[in-house]
Amino acid sequence: MNSSENNIINTISNQQKGKIYNILKCHLCSKILYQPITLHCQETFCKPCLKIYTMKTSKQDCPKCHKPAFYQPINNFKLWDLINKLFPDVVKAREEEIKKSTPKLSQIEEIKEEIIKNNWREIINKKTNNNTTSTHLLDNQIFIEQLF
Ligand SMILES: [Zn+2]
Ligand SMILES: [Zn+2]
Repeated sequence: MNSSENNIINTISNQQKGKIYNILKCHLCSKILYQPITLHCQETFCKPCLKIYTMKTSKQDCPKCHKPAFYQPINNFKLWDLINKLFPDVVKAREEEIKKSTPKLSQIEEIKEEIIKNNWREIINKKTNNNTTSTHLLDNQIFIEQLF
């Protein structure tokens, strides 16, 4: 963000900030977007929220409109920069909160391992049964890898 953009931000009143905050809320946690990720349906979510949603549901769709999210999610850096400038205290508080609630690395590894195992099961089933059911689990792992 350049200095003229910073100047514009300094002129925004608290009341206006409140309105912006409401627009920039995550559909999953109802808080200000944290490390926003935009899916190809143009919906934007917090990266940690999307990660948890994908792991919990094993689905690779948009949590709001449920359109499949086949493509690489995009880190919305411009929006994240803006949120950091507008709401630095909220971002800091959220950061602390996420640090406490995020599963430890070992837990993440366990989940990833489970996903990989399931993928293999899926692939083996597909090969042995000549079953054309979706290989969405494999795609799902790739999707989660991108989020990490
Ligand atoms: Zn969220
Ligand atoms: Zn969507």
